[in-house]
Amino acid sequence: MSTAPGSPHPASPVEAVLHALFERHRSTLEGQVADYIPELSNADPRAFGICIATRDGHVYEVGDTRQPFTIQSISKALVYGLALQDRGEEEILRRIGVEPSGDAFNAISLRPGSGAPFNPMINAGAIAACGLLDKDAAGSRIARVLEFLSGFAGRALDIDEAVYRSESETGHRNRAIGWMLRNVGILDEDPTDTLETYFRQCAVRVTCRDLALMAATLANHGLHPVTGQVAVQPGAVRNILSVMSTCGMYDASGEWIYRVGLPAKSGVGGGVMAVLPGQLGIGVFSPPLDAQGNSVRGVRVCTDLSRELSLHLFQAGGPLPALRLVYDASKVHSRRRRSPWQRELLAQEGHRIRVMELQGDLVFGSVEPVIRAAHEQASGLRALVLDLRNVLAADEPSLRLLARLQQGLAAGGLSVSLCHARALGPRLVAQGLAPGSLKPDIDMALEAAEELLLSRDARQAGAGAAVALRECELLAPLAPQDLAWLEALMPEQGFAAGEPVVRAGDPGDAMFFLLEGTVEVRLSGPGPGRGRRVDVFTAGMSFGEMAFIDGAPRSADVVAVQPTRCRVLPLAVFERLDRERPQLKIRLLQQVTRQLSTNLRRINAEAQAMRG
Ligand code: GLN
Repeated sequence: MSTAPGSPHPASPVEAVLHALFERHRSTLEGQVADYIPELSNADPRAFGICIATRDGHVYEVGDTRQPFTIQSISKALVYGLALQDRGEEEILRRIGVEPSGDAFNAISLRPGSGAPFNPMINAGAIAACGLLDKDAAGSRIARVLEFLSGFAGRALDIDEAVYRSESETGHRNRAIGWMLRNVGILDEDPTDTLETYFRQCAVRVTCRDLALMAATLANHGLHPVTGQVAVQPGAVRNILSVMSTCGMYDASGEWIYRVGLPAKSGVGGGVMAVLPGQLGIGVFSPPLDAQGNSVRGVRVCTDLSRELSLHLFQAGGPLPALRLVYDASKVHSRRRRSPWQRELLAQEGHRIRVMELQGDLVFGSVEPVIRAAHEQASGLRALVLDLRNVLAADEPSLRLLARLQQGLAAGGLSVSLCHARALGPRLVAQGLAPGSLKPDIDMALEAAEELLLSRDARQAGAGAAVALRECELLAPLAPQDLAWLEALMPEQGFAAGEPVVRAGDPGDAMFFLLEGTVEVRLSGPGPGRGRRVDVFTAGMSFGEMAFIDGAPRSADVVAVQPTRCRVLPLAVFERLDRERPQLKIRLLQQVTRQLSTNLRRINAEAQAMRG
């Protein structure tokens, strides 16, 4: 949304910062609109726009942020990336240096000896980069350049033909540079076509908003934050930002990085584009230029913004610590219900299963403390689970460190699993992580870790085997004659693997006692959790008791995951007990209440542990 300057109520405090800046500098009319390209002298010196685009694609804007102007030298930074992609870093470095020249942008200065331009941000280097681009199928470079720049803007850009013609008719100095590059062999062919391509590249029409999004794309590792398209390879982003920080503001680059601290690029059309890597992009548009050819208000706005929002690269805070929460499995369990002895063993031994929940961006500085903590805590552990659900992004070196952590600890006998890895999964495996250590979610990871602990107990071998009704936990304390009376009124039901036992919304008219097999309770209805298991019951356990207490319909689906046999206690029988066997009813209710409170205690303990 473009906000009219001075509109009464800025919608957000961030917009308010931009409005204040806009007001502070709107009456500044210092500087001269470029006129050495005659067509540029028509620019309105009052035009002024400020834009910030975040790494996730939100755009804050004030002023003339949608007014088109020519990109000019800002294109140099981006097209350098295309040349790198086309020719590779080594060849480009042989032909174009990366040293600040201290000269004006249009200086006819080449490095003594090699004849290579000092850097790709001055005209000589930019013309060389343009001449090194591959041609498209029709033999034209400008079509590729236009498409490439459009990828950064996230929309189809075009060329201002009048500005192009105007520069082509008067750009004798740039022609001289082109021929010098040809003379020293930096360009391999007649530079005429290269120069026309370069003039057209400089005449690509953009808006202030485009510049902010282009900068945000650079801030986002080359991925356009709105379209999600890869505009440029991440490796080239690093190179582009490096030369922007040392050379992007011409002979004012040293002072710029000192005061503003953001890689940036300006153009004689009045645009400035600045990048805070990993966070945001800034675009400013104001045509009057200072002696170095940088937009006067562009420099001032960026200087103020950097100071007011603490954007200077060398004072920006480090990454968020990646270790968000550590807990163990004595309190937090998998969804699989356990028998009494299993519960007891897990309560005693669960501390040997540790979960580390990670968050944010994984880079060396955030992941190193995780690695250290894992090593410090490893002794005595049986399993370590890294939960990646809140990880937003990761670079390859930090994934490699995690893969090595898994390998190293596994060699020492500690089972390490990673869950909720999503798109990071294949990348972790590519870095050497054992594929078996990836678990889809925390529930599966905890279940596997619990099985490891339980497997040491001889009783585990018999776990899951068929039981008789009297062995069901809830019925165990009943007197034999009561049980026999009940059993006669409880029909048996069988379910094949995959068959539903109850469905969400069904009336709760029976309670189930599992004699054999396994069922899962799964979330139903819309939403991302749909189908996720929230409970697992095995032989000896019972479910469906909540409906006996509150009469509400079933809240979730229950599905047999193995061939399953149950005894079913109909609600009608339960109600008959009021008259026929009141003592039995009290006993049953006691047992049901006990089961519910055990459950509630478990959930409370989990909630407590998860709060950290
Ligand atoms: N097209 C302009 C030139 O080559 C670009 C210069 C600039 O924006 N600094 O002179």
